[in-house]
Amino acid sequence: MKKTVLTLSIAGAMMLSVSPFGSPVANAVGNGPTYGGNETINTSILHTYDEMADYLKKQDVKQQDMKLEVIGQSIKGRDLYLAKYIKNPKNPTILFLTQQHGNEQLTTEGALEFIKHLGTDKMKGVTDGVNILIVPMLNADGAMGDVDFSLDDYIAKGDRNLTRYNAAEVDLNRDHITKIQPETKALHNNVMKKYNIDYMIDLHHQGAMSERDGKLVSGSILYPTTPNADPEVVQKSKQLGAVVFDAIDEKGWGHLGKYNGGSAETISRNGIAVEYGISTLLFEMRGMSDHEYESYVLGQKSNGYLIKQTVTTLDATVRAIADRSIESKDTSFWDSLSYQTTRPSE
Ligand SMILES: [Zn+2]
Repeated sequence: MKKTVLTLSIAGAMMLSVSPFGSPVANAVGNGPTYGGNETINTSILHTYDEMADYLKKQDVKQQDMKLEVIGQSIKGRDLYLAKYIKNPKNPTILFLTQQHGNEQLTTEGALEFIKHLGTDKMKGVTDGVNILIVPMLNADGAMGDVDFSLDDYIAKGDRNLTRYNAAEVDLNRDHITKIQPETKALHNNVMKKYNIDYMIDLHHQGAMSERDGKLVSGSILYPTTPNADPEVVQKSKQLGAVVFDAIDEKGWGHLGKYNGGSAETISRNGIAVEYGISTLLFEMRGMSDHEYESYVLGQKSNGYLIKQTVTTLDATVRAIADRSIESKDTSFWDSLSYQTTRPSE
């Protein structure tokens, strides 16, 4: 039995190492398998924190334009990383943030893949027109299941369980006003306040059963919805969303809904837009890496298209900012985009 699991996880790891650009096969949304209790969810195919740190350090050595920085430590003492590409401080700057919630890891897998792309000829010239900041796996303790509460009910098998909360069982994405947790403090003091950031995409995963127009979504998006956000900041956020929507919607696997989010400023989409005047977009991808609820977890056969969705999002937005086409992007699609709804269980 152990041997079977090992074989599966090696096959999974090989699938993950294939470049999203190189792999033509992706499961169509709607046919993408959900957990349903039948399929193994094996966390061994995901980067551990240590593997991620090694990966980032190797890319830092390889890539002349990349600078890797430690912005602080998690409760359990893990270094939190910022990968940055700043050729000209006068250029507009975008920040990509992943895994505030530790059990939402495919966005980090996509961000790591994108960092590799930034060192290749494919991306040559792009960083001449845009500064890129990437904070992967902000909630490193939650991602490793290294927390001071029980994860016994969690579904995934493998070397670890992954949880939404940090080690102190706090939701980091409700801590953007008080900034009490060390992870949130590190982000605000050493990234948000230190750089002149224009755009931010906050990358998450949602439940697996959301649909729009009768079809399961690959994800959902939303701009700041607090009345305290500057209308110009909101407009630029909608343009950021338009770039993402157009890039994803044309893919066979891509189908996005509008996220039904509130106006609380404790969450980054709203709080960071108000406090720093940064145009923000929340991107919630389908299905989580681990959870105690079956309907939230997505079978790992969907990993390929969800990682690709992250890479496509990051690639499209940096290009649209670099060539300034984002500034004239039409935002009228937001008026007709339906809110996603939850498919009733059978
Ligand atoms: Zn989340």
